[in-house]
Amino acid sequence: REGHSISEVKQNFAMGEDGLVRLSGYADGSDRYLAYAPLGINDWMICYVIPVSDAQSSYSFIKSYEGIFMSVFFILVLLLVFYIIHNNRIRNEELRRDAQTDGLTGTLNKRATEARINEILDQMPQEKGTFIILDVDKFKEVNDHYGHAVGDIVLSTLGQTLRNYFRENDIIGRIGGDEFVIYMCKTESKERAVTRIRALADTVKNLSFAEMNGHHITISIGISFAPEHGTCYMDLYKNADTALYETKQNGRDGYFLFQKQDSII
Ligand code: GH3
Ligand code: MG
Repeated sequence: REGHSISEVKQNFAMGEDGLVRLSGYADGSDRYLAYAPLGINDWMICYVIPVSDAQSSYSFIKSYEGIFMSVFFILVLLLVFYIIHNNRIRNEELRRDAQTDGLTGTLNKRATEARINEILDQMPQEKGTFIILDVDKFKEVNDHYGHAVGDIVLSTLGQTLRNYFRENDIIGRIGGDEFVIYMCKTESKERAVTRIRALADTVKNLSFAEMNGHHITISIGISFAPEHGTCYMDLYKNADTALYETKQNGRDGYFLFQKQDSII
């Protein structure tokens, strides 16, 4: 016997305390463990005897696989951490996109439009680009005739059309009620840019709105070029707006290019 003496065991029993004694001298030559513990009911104790070899084999099983258990646990924790980080990143990206997007048209909102265009202009100040302001003609009449909800459908369809029409790198934003800004990066030539803008005006003119009994809309456009007419959003906007004003003055449904010295063509 190793561990507590018989009198200590008796004392533990009397006090309701647990303990362990190693017993030897069995006929088969193997030692046993005698373990006892209070049951917590009346003064009962539970006692059990198991061969030392059995107790040790469970222990050595746990010991020998401890490394594997720990590795699996560690990998699971790592996977969990990566999963949380990945989910957070996706969620943050969604929040960032939502904060920059105009809910009705799916284009950028005013603040993001200005920021993104300035970003491009700052990064590549000498690169040629085309700045376009686009405003729906007589849009108030659409609202008045068909209702605000139909007006919303028109704006949303226009936003979708612009997003489909331009390249992924181009910036498209709604900066006011029926006013959009587009920045076409890497403009090869003014002529090509104008051809593309004219084709856009035709595409928009060909949109048929069932909600407006198949009627169409037209748009007025003002254009300025970077870096010739400005190297920041505000300058390009002011100049394109001057050109847009000319388009509106000249009967709408068309475009004007800003010209320095206040002459517009
Ligand atoms: P113009 O040809 O001179 O541009 O005439 P217009 O009637 O289009 O005039 P303007 O561009 O100034 O009017 C824009 C209108 O857009 C005014 C407002 O009632 C309407 N509007 C602004 N935001 C929204 C919106 O979110 N939904 C709808 N349905 N209408 C809007
Ligand atoms: Mg308008």
